[in-house]
Amino acid sequence: MSTTVISESNNGILHPVTAQLVGAASSLGGPITVICPGGVGSSDAAKISGVTKVISVEGECFETYDCSAWSKSLSPLIEGDLILSSSSAIGRELISSISATKGIPVVQDVTSLKDGFSATRTIYSGKAIEEVSISSPCAISLRPNSFESAEGGGSAEISTVNVSQEVAVAVKRALAKASERLDVSEAEIIISGGRGMGEPANFSHLNEIADVLGAAVGASRAAVDTWEEIPHSMQVGQTGKTVTPNLYIAVGISGAIQHLAGMRSSKFILAINKDPEAPIFGVADYGIVSTWEDALPALKDQLAELLSN
Ligand SMILES: Cc1cc2nc3c(=O)[nH]c(=O)nc-3n(C[C@H](O)[C@H](O)[C@H](O)COP(=O)(O)OP(=O)(O)OC[C@H]3O[C@@H](n4cnc5c(N)ncnc54)[C@H](O)[C@@H]3O)c2cc1C
Repeated sequence: MSTTVISESNNGILHPVTAQLVGAASSLGGPITVICPGGVGSSDAAKISGVTKVISVEGECFETYDCSAWSKSLSPLIEGDLILSSSSAIGRELISSISATKGIPVVQDVTSLKDGFSATRTIYSGKAIEEVSISSPCAISLRPNSFESAEGGGSAEISTVNVSQEVAVAVKRALAKASERLDVSEAEIIISGGRGMGEPANFSHLNEIADVLGAAVGASRAAVDTWEEIPHSMQVGQTGKTVTPNLYIAVGISGAIQHLAGMRSSKFILAINKDPEAPIFGVADYGIVSTWEDALPALKDQLAELLSN
């Protein structure tokens, strides 16, 4: 089985999820080609163990993300039985477009792969697990943090392709700005705020803790719907993003079933809520019954002390 992995990058460097995609591909056997849009992180991709070849695809269209331009330039370079991407917002959209161009099926947000060949993913907001039989060629997006990362130590050959003459340039500065902070669907730690934050300016307290932890900041739908300053891309839940971080910190979030649908499979959940009866405590591993005004400064100080030792 030959696999092409579409690498993921963030702020000009290779995102660690790329090693997870290679880890998943390695478990199936066969040669693995990594395609690096914009050439970002191609030398790091070549060092991932198991990678056979890296194609560094350069061109002006990669300065900002535009699905149509990226898909047009990458599709002709992608070969093989299996195409893998991350199920980040960009990864999902890009792999859909590439699979449509190539006329092959796509399976999104897969959490495990088996030889033979089948994939599993959660459906009905995480209430059930679906097993999908797959025949190659096929495109699959994998949920971040669901697969073991391949180790370093590789030394794959890198070839460079320039596509700047072939693709129209689409400048989308707003999207570039939106990607400045880590996306919730890829983060290992997420701190999310709900309506209990009182006003959008108070999300700065969550940003401060996120900066200490290297976390992404998420939100409940009530926060997103109430305050236009909180973008929909931050929403976690049934109609937002499904996340599986190692740690999810819910602040001023009641724990409605639609919110839980997007975050209950987090490894550890810490809830901060002034109402001891809030349903979020029903799924939390750790709970702080307090206002965030009291809890967050103390949490920030403790974390700063812990991380400085
Ligand atoms: C079809 C459908 C889809 C939906 N999809 C989603 C979804 O994807 N994601 C989602 O989140 N919701 C979704 N919802 C909405 C969901 O039902 C809830 O309305 C929403 O999650 C509530 O958000 P919240 O917890 O921020 O607000 P609230 O329910 O108002 O809770 C606020 C919480 O903050 C606490 N609080 C208040 N002040 C403080 C303070 N100072 N310090 C600490 N705690 C405080 C309160 O005790 C309370 O528990 C959906 C609803 C429907 C019908």
